[in-house]
Amino acid sequence: MSKAFVITMDGPAGVGKSTLARRLAAELGIAYLDTGAMYRTLGLALGAEAADLPEEELRRRCAAFAFSLRRGEGGSWILCCCGRPVGEEIRTERAGRLASLVARLPVLRSELQKAQQELGEGVSLVAEGRDMGTKVFPGARRKFFLDARPEVRAERRFRELLARGLEADFNTVLNDIVQRDEQDRGRALDPLRPAPDAVLVDTSDLDPDAVLRVLLNSVHAALGRDGLRHEAEPGFTHLAEDGSLRMVDVGGKLETRRVARARAVVEMSASTLDLLRRDALPKGDVLAVAKVAGIMAAKRTWELIPLCHPLAVNYADIRFEIRDEPPSVLLESEVRVSGRTGVEMEALMAAQVAAATIYDMAKAVQKDMVIRDVRLVYKSGGKSGDFRAE
Ligand code: C5P
Repeated sequence: MSKAFVITMDGPAGVGKSTLARRLAAELGIAYLDTGAMYRTLGLALGAEAADLPEEELRRRCAAFAFSLRRGEGGSWILCCCGRPVGEEIRTERAGRLASLVARLPVLRSELQKAQQELGEGVSLVAEGRDMGTKVFPGARRKFFLDARPEVRAERRFRELLARGLEADFNTVLNDIVQRDEQDRGRALDPLRPAPDAVLVDTSDLDPDAVLRVLLNSVHAALGRDGLRHEAEPGFTHLAEDGSLRMVDVGGKLETRRVARARAVVEMSASTLDLLRRDALPKGDVLAVAKVAGIMAAKRTWELIPLCHPLAVNYADIRFEIRDEPPSVLLESEVRVSGRTGVEMEALMAAQVAAATIYDMAKAVQKDMVIRDVRLVYKSGGKSGDFRAE
């Protein structure tokens, strides 16, 4: 049985927690829990009047909001309330202010904290909020506390609102952030503060990719790469919960430089090889055509292999070596990309199509040529590290 683990991520408004927690969870292949969304949902639904409700009535109303986590298309995790995905309406500044208001109510907090702990039972997740490390998951395997200067956070929020096509005024956003900080840090109950054992990360002068690298290194140090692999949820990455096929969502992965090389051998008779070497085969320049075919195959791999991602290939090439013993052409493809997924399949397709093209160009003189030893010989970049065939 795999053992579930929790990673917590706390910090003030606008520090970039949501994006980073989501990307960290995707990198680790575990669930993501946005607890702010739970407070926002209740804040919007109950309004500021929630503060005037008698305790029992408030508890009764909270109980009507059943939260669950569901796996969406592409493997991302969706927070649902009463069976339906939590909607975009909670992402407004007003919803944020209401969330912060209702988050001060002891009954509401304890109801949501219980629900959050239940969601973390038996499921590995990155839990994001204000009191994840201090209160909800005190035994988390790794705790992070992200912070940034208020002006930097306001700038990020401001840009985010503009990008979503909403009207925004920088000073209003800054005031909101400062006010929410005061409310969240100054409240009596579960104030926003780092757990004593939290790793503090100041994101003011770092871009999201750099922060993600810091977080990933820290998680790997705490759990170990192999430990992580064993402890994360079991299951097939290309199968959805209901058993249907799915493509892995690589949106949260880091863009890195990736290289792959693959080989194939086309064995032929000495006389065919001699014709090839002398450019005397009836269809023309075999190796030039095979090279172009291999490069095109690398670029079109995603059209042929069902769950492959389309990649903007930076470089593809095929090199040939003519060998006399046994008479054959050894060919090696090389494909490079700056991307979120590897290019092994592109390299393998390039090698195989180049080999098949040699066969096609020479089959008029020999039908029993053999294509063999198709294999990946090298790859670098990405989470699984480098590989070099013996
Ligand atoms: O993170 P987000 O901005 O969505 O959170 C909205 C508000 O919900 C926060 O300002 C905070 O007052 C409250 N909250 C909380 N505890 C959490 C998550 C959010 O008090 N774990």
